Amino acid sequence: MTDFTTYLQQANLIGGAWVGADSGTTIDVTNPATGEVIGTVPNCGTDETNRAIAAASDAFKSFSRTDLMTRVKLLHGLHDALMDNQASLALLLTTEQGKPLFEAMGEIAISAAYVRWFAEEVRRAKGEIVPAPTNDRRLLVTRHPVGVVGAITPWNFPSSMLARKLAPALAAGCTVIAKPATATPYSGLAWGKLCEEVGYPAGVVNVVTGSARQIGGAIMDSPDVRKVTFTGSTEIGKTLIRQSADTVKKVSMELGGNAPFIVFDDADLDAAVQGAMIAKFRNMGQTCVCTNRFYVQAGIHDAFVEKLKEAVAALVVGNGIEDGVQQGPMIDMAAVEKVEEFIADAVSKGGKIVEGGKRHGNGGTYFEPTVVTGATADMAFATEEIFGPLAAVFSFDTEEEAIAAANDTDFGLAAYAYTKDVGRVFRLNDGLQYGLIGINSGLITTVEAPFGGLKESGMGKEGGSQGLDDYLSTKYVCVAGLL
Ligand code: ADP
Repeated sequence: MTDFTTYLQQANLIGGAWVGADSGTTIDVTNPATGEVIGTVPNCGTDETNRAIAAASDAFKSFSRTDLMTRVKLLHGLHDALMDNQASLALLLTTEQGKPLFEAMGEIAISAAYVRWFAEEVRRAKGEIVPAPTNDRRLLVTRHPVGVVGAITPWNFPSSMLARKLAPALAAGCTVIAKPATATPYSGLAWGKLCEEVGYPAGVVNVVTGSARQIGGAIMDSPDVRKVTFTGSTEIGKTLIRQSADTVKKVSMELGGNAPFIVFDDADLDAAVQGAMIAKFRNMGQTCVCTNRFYVQAGIHDAFVEKLKEAVAALVVGNGIEDGVQQGPMIDMAAVEKVEEFIADAVSKGGKIVEGGKRHGNGGTYFEPTVVTGATADMAFATEEIFGPLAAVFSFDTEEEAIAAANDTDFGLAAYAYTKDVGRVFRLNDGLQYGLIGINSGLITTVEAPFGGLKESGMGKEGGSQGLDDYLSTKYVCVAGLL
């Protein structure tokens, strides 16, 4: 029988040892579906993090010089360990995070896929020999692991967000201090256990839980940490970018989004609704690529709303571990209250609730999947990230108008559009200021493609060949005096 406790680690991994906080204090971790305490994690801070950094720096000396094929084999072992334990890791994920089990199974599978992708990709991390201006010289461009990496991850994809950072870091020969989100630490700690089991040397992977400010502060202050990779809110991302200045660290930032989803009159209506459901309601609307704003062309507006409403009303809400459940609880009460505020604000400005609109009868942090029509640019969700199961529907007339409205935000992560007009597809590609564009698809993340935002949605890419570049430094060597 599947047991979520197989990889339930209630200690931190520092320098190859599983330890508690120096203070002996712990933080409770609760199951959002039931409110029950699953277990505890150490409440670590600056000192423990500095020890993890020291261990990672020490391990870097040898790990950065391991044979390529040793690193590749370790990654393949890690991939297999993830897939061999997919069911128990998924159950652990759902238990701490709330998403339906089928989504958690998918998250573990894509985590493993990232590990395999970077095991393959690192074998092609080529340098260059550049033509020299004179014959007595040879100019070589070589690539090297960037150094010790700090990886800070959020609660909405506690496994795959770490996979995108850990896999390229380990492929490149970097060592890592990972800080999972406090609400969902176990999926991150499980990576520590899996890495230990497949044979990564002590200190290569360290996982620290506790005070975000102190752990983050120690990582940012340390001159030994050469790169920080962060997924989370734009607000914290900006703080980390500022903090990186003193030691001039390399940073990658996957920050917030405000995704538009544009449905043109010529769209396949059923496909658009199907895509809308995935792009809006996956993980209860708690993803940075979730649709925030639906823009629907006037000619198809009413038909789209009717079908969307029907599909939303049919969603099964419940504990994610139960069969058939499509919507779990939200992560916490603050998230519920935020969605309530968005709805109240919209209604006060003329928006109409056509489906849902309130807390779900299950109690706790369950919320009814909701559709609001009559959305306008002065409503809060036009500019702020909803991060919940609320579909806001705007109406538009022309393509130019839709593109301008879609771009009218500080964010630039994901955008979606449904249309059959090939010329328009390329006008959208040129016009939409977004790092990820889904045409006729509401789900486009894949390990082979670079994931990352423009504008205030971040910098750097995860996945694709670009996802490895961030973990490699380039050196140029000029060998002279050859004649
Ligand atoms: P979210 O809205 O996804 O929770 P946050 O930006 O608040 O986004 O959190 C993302 C990650 O950043 C979490 O692991 C959180 O603990 C961590 N974090 C929060 N504040 C800080 C900070 N000041 N320094 C470093 N990490 C932080």
